[in-house]
Amino acid sequence: MSFTLAIVGRPNVGKSTLFNRLVGKRLALVDDQPGVTRDLREGDARLGDLKFIVIDSAGLELAEDDSLQGRMRRLTERAVEEADVCLFLVDARVGVTPADEIFAEILRRKNAHVILAANKAEGHAGVAGALEAWSLGLGEPLQISAEHGEGLDDLYAALKPLADEFAARHAANTPEVDVEIEEGSEEEEVYRAPTAAKPLQLAVIGRPNAGKSTLINKILGEDRLLTGPEAGITRDAISVSTEFMGTPMRIWDTAGMRKKGKVNDKLEKLSVADGLRAVRFAEVVVVLLDVNIPFETQDLRIADFAETEGRAVVVAANKWDLEEDKPEKLKELREAFERLLPQLKGAPLVTVSAKTGKGLDRLNDAILKAHRVWNRRISTAKLNNWLTAMTEAHPPPAPGGRRIKLRYMTQAKTRPPGFVIMATHTDKIPESYGRYLVNGLRADFDMPGTPIRIFFRDQG
Ligand code: GDP
Ligand code: GDP
Repeated sequence: MSFTLAIVGRPNVGKSTLFNRLVGKRLALVDDQPGVTRDLREGDARLGDLKFIVIDSAGLELAEDDSLQGRMRRLTERAVEEADVCLFLVDARVGVTPADEIFAEILRRKNAHVILAANKAEGHAGVAGALEAWSLGLGEPLQISAEHGEGLDDLYAALKPLADEFAARHAANTPEVDVEIEEGSEEEEVYRAPTAAKPLQLAVIGRPNAGKSTLINKILGEDRLLTGPEAGITRDAISVSTEFMGTPMRIWDTAGMRKKGKVNDKLEKLSVADGLRAVRFAEVVVVLLDVNIPFETQDLRIADFAETEGRAVVVAANKWDLEEDKPEKLKELREAFERLLPQLKGAPLVTVSAKTGKGLDRLNDAILKAHRVWNRRISTAKLNNWLTAMTEAHPPPAPGGRRIKLRYMTQAKTRPPGFVIMATHTDKIPESYGRYLVNGLRADFDMPGTPIRIFFRDQG
């Protein structure tokens, strides 16, 4: 358990830049254009020996109506509520603006624990602006430069006592927890159900307008991501921690995969990379389809990418509420799925309505099952019995009269499951025989929807 720091402040003061520096990966998107960062985004941060969760909030917007800006402001307030400490950034080069003052007022009203910092203060460029920030009445402004990494030792010094206090408080309140291991099969000896400390990493990917944001909002049960008609609101990979029907999950949203002409090229390129990155963070990937236009090229590419990356895949057909002839449509979907995505044979296909919430229980089941399968470990004894049966039922070919022998099999890895088979003449094993074994493993050990890899090792 670590404490949570929210970085707050009006647009363009450098929140995302600082977030990136603390998280150490280029998770957020930085751009000169104000308001690029519009969602709450979390990352695991490090500063010296301090580890904490950092939230990059939306910028301060003062509109009270239900416009995009109004919603961004609500998100900011929520960031403040969720955080243990707020880092309030102002721009040392610009000095204090009226927006900063109103923001300071919000922080005071929320009774937040605030560290004030004047950013862009590299060299001595920001001394005047930093002095001005005293007027906000939030204590001494640190002078930092997110871009150049200056002043971070002061930030450390300000955070350290708070972190210690948090750790002490938490230690006092936390009972000892045993990791629960269900009894039964061997698989369950290695499977650890997701916990708050190690949540299931989930990515929701799909084409623009498939309903990703609506789905994630529904799961979160709150308006934490923005949905709406604005194109390309979510431009980069963002993540939120939540519980989905009792299971701790971290959800990565990759709306960056949208191809929208409206967004300028530079942003768009970064976004696609962000989308793919979110798949890399994920253990289970939900490929969300719009049931009205399912399995288009872009969907197939996305699903294929998830498989190639070795992720467990669940396909969810969304907007099921709009469907009139449900049984017929379902049949159609299944056929198309089998035909177009043979590499994902057996992956669960569930129908959902992100809008009404119908089918979310099925989706949750499918995700948990996929995660379990992805982590599955099969004993060497079972595998070798199985291999014997498989080769007896259908022996490998005998190129040039010399039979290929598959001698011994073991599971080399999990997440996803990978197997090694010691064999002779491995270079002669046809691909079709490999497929026969993979399909057999899938069927006999009940491993739908997870990529399975078999590696052959030559053994004389
Ligand atoms: P946000 O809207 O608050 O998230 O701000 P960004 O992180 O997107 O930064 C806005 C602009 O300020 C970008 O052009 C950054 O490169 C720039 N910036 C951020 N930190 C610094 C800094 O420490 N010094 C200078 N000179 N520029 C910075
Ligand atoms: P994203 O681009 O994938 O994040 O898609 P959004 O979540 O922004 O949704 C795109 C549009 O589809 C919005 O107008 C949503 O209201 C609508 N939508 C999303 N899910 C459903 C659903 O289950 N049923 C219906 N009828 N509409 C939906």
